[in-house]
Amino acid sequence: MTADPGDPRLSIPSPLRLAFDGEALAANWRTMDRLSGGARAGAAVKADAYGVGVDRAMPVLLGAGCRDFFVAHWSEAAEVMEHAPASSISVLLGPMNDADVQFAKQLGVRPVINSLDQARRWTEAGGGACDLMVDTGMNRLGLRVEEIGNSAVAALDVQVLMSHLACADEDSDLNARQQAAFANVAQQVPHHAASLANSAGIALGNGYHFDLTRPGLALYGGVPRGELAGEVQQVVAPEAAIVQIRRLPAGETIGYGASFTAPADMQVAIVSLGYADGFLRSWSNVGTFTAQDGAVLPVIGRVSMDLTAIDITAAPHLREGDWLRAAYDLPRAAEVSGLSQYELLTLAGARLRRG
Ligand SMILES: *Cc1c(COP(=O)(O)O)cnc(C)c1O
Repeated sequence: MTADPGDPRLSIPSPLRLAFDGEALAANWRTMDRLSGGARAGAAVKADAYGVGVDRAMPVLLGAGCRDFFVAHWSEAAEVMEHAPASSISVLLGPMNDADVQFAKQLGVRPVINSLDQARRWTEAGGGACDLMVDTGMNRLGLRVEEIGNSAVAALDVQVLMSHLACADEDSDLNARQQAAFANVAQQVPHHAASLANSAGIALGNGYHFDLTRPGLALYGGVPRGELAGEVQQVVAPEAAIVQIRRLPAGETIGYGASFTAPADMQVAIVSLGYADGFLRSWSNVGTFTAQDGAVLPVIGRVSMDLTAIDITAAPHLREGDWLRAAYDLPRAAEVSGLSQYELLTLAGARLRRG
C-alpha cells in the first residue's frame, strides 16, 4: 500500500500526549554523574527508556555526555543503535542462542554474559569484547561467585564487570554484603570497568560507585531514596485535551459509580485521558491537573477507560481543545496509587506517547 501524503490517517492529531522535559532529563543525568563521584554514569534505557521513549531520551543523554547504555533485549539494542555507537550498548539478557550471538558479533553490541553456558557459547563463536554479570545476592541473573574461577570466565575479554543490588532503595544489610562481595570479585576477574550501582545505589556512597554507575529510574524523574529528593527533576507528565466542557448542577453526580456529588453548580472539563492510557483509577477524586496559567484543578468522580472529569470552576477561561497537564510527581504518584515509581513510568506507555 502506498501512503498518500494527503491521507488523513497520517496526520490525525491525538488528544493526549506525554509531555517530556529534555532539560530535566539532561540535568538528572548530570546530577547522577556528579553524585557518582570518580565513577562515570551510564544510563539504563531498557523498556523504551522506562516508557519515556528511546527516540526522545537518547539524543538528550548523548548530548549530556552519557556514553554507556544498558538495554534488556536485543531488539532494544537495535533501537538504541539508531542513536549511539553499538560499542556503547550492553544487552543485559545476554546471548541465549546463536541468533543473539550473531546479532552481537555482526553489529558490535556487547552481550552481558550471565552464566557459564553463555560464556562458552560466546567464546565458541569467536569471543570478543563482552560484559559479565556476577550475582552477589539478588539471585536473578548472573554467574554465582563460586563460578568466577572457571576457565570459561578466564577466556572472556570482560569490558564491564557488573553486579546488581537487590535492596539499594532500602537500608538493608544486604547492601554492604553485596558491595564487599563485588569488591572481592573485581579483584579476581580482569576487566576494564566495574559497575554495581543503580540509581539508588549511587546514593549509598563512594564505596558503591566503582568505575561506572547504571542509573535508570532517577534519570526519568524517580526518587528511589530520600537522599535524592530535591536532586531529581520531573521529566514526564501526561497531558490531555479538553474534549467537552459542561455544567454540573448542584446535587448531581458524575461518572461511574456516582462517586462525586456536586456541592454547588460547577464547571466541568472532560479530558481524553483514562486508565487505558495509564492514568489509573486510583486518581479518582484525588488527582489534580494544572492549566497553562498554573491553576490547580481537581479530578472529580471516577477515572474511566478513556475519560476523566475535572472541576474547572476556578479556571472559567478554559475552552474545549485546551490542554491540561496531570500532576505526576512520581514519589507522590506512587503513594497515591500503591504502585512503584517504576511501574508508573513504564505504564505511561505507547498510547500516550503517540500524541
Ligand atoms: C534496570 C537496571 C538498572 C537501573 O536501575 P534503576 O533502579 O532504574 O536505577 C541498572 N542495572 C541493571 C542490571 C538493571 O537491570
